[in-house]
Amino acid sequence: MLTRINHSSLSETQTERESLEASKVVTKAAIQELSQELSQEIHQEQTSNYVLDAQGWCPQVQQLPSPNFGPRPVGMSVSLLVIHNISLPVGQYAHNYIADLFLNRLDCSADESFADLKGLQVSSHFLIRRTGQIQQFVSVFERAWHAGVSHFQGRDGCNDFSIGIELEGSDNGPFEDAQYTSLVTLSQTLLRHFPIAHIAGHEEIAPGRKTDPGPYFDWLRYQKALGPWHWEAPTLF
Ligand SMILES: [Zn+2]
Repeated sequence: MLTRINHSSLSETQTERESLEASKVVTKAAIQELSQELSQEIHQEQTSNYVLDAQGWCPQVQQLPSPNFGPRPVGMSVSLLVIHNISLPVGQYAHNYIADLFLNRLDCSADESFADLKGLQVSSHFLIRRTGQIQQFVSVFERAWHAGVSHFQGRDGCNDFSIGIELEGSDNGPFEDAQYTSLVTLSQTLLRHFPIAHIAGHEEIAPGRKTDPGPYFDWLRYQKALGPWHWEAPTLF
């Protein structure tokens, strides 16, 4: 008898517990749904807040005009976005050496690894620092010097028809969440302004010579976050 009562009580307790568990699942699902909605709202806010002015500069980011640029060929439209990584020294993020390099003011004696950079004149349109901060060095209407000797789908000299975005980082470790957020925001802005048909890594347009953005750059994450933009001829996915 005692056993039966206990068994009965146990059954009731189990039923209550199952009911409670079910309500927890519902609550959890509701919270997840709400959380997704909120994050989408936040994402939408973040993705709609960059603009480009008539000179090709983004007024919301730090502007550090580099002398290392030239005109794009007449009539040449921007059809390619190139993703890079860079850090100076490699894997160190505490300094402003990248900006110094792009502004031709790098002290090449500051680190022994800088010896090869002496006299180098390079730039990129944008740099996204580890914090997600964006710096712009060249107007998007101008030709920045980020790709070097390069080739993409039958065309040489990718600087002519591309915009370069550098992520502060290396081939040896992951990039920061804040960098992906800024990269997506910036990319969506550029995709709105230019007939960009492809997004490629530097390693893809200069194979054998360049390896960035490297194995830690999460192309799938980037692609998903970019949303419905149509990848006309995806070569990396
Ligand atoms: Zn590169």
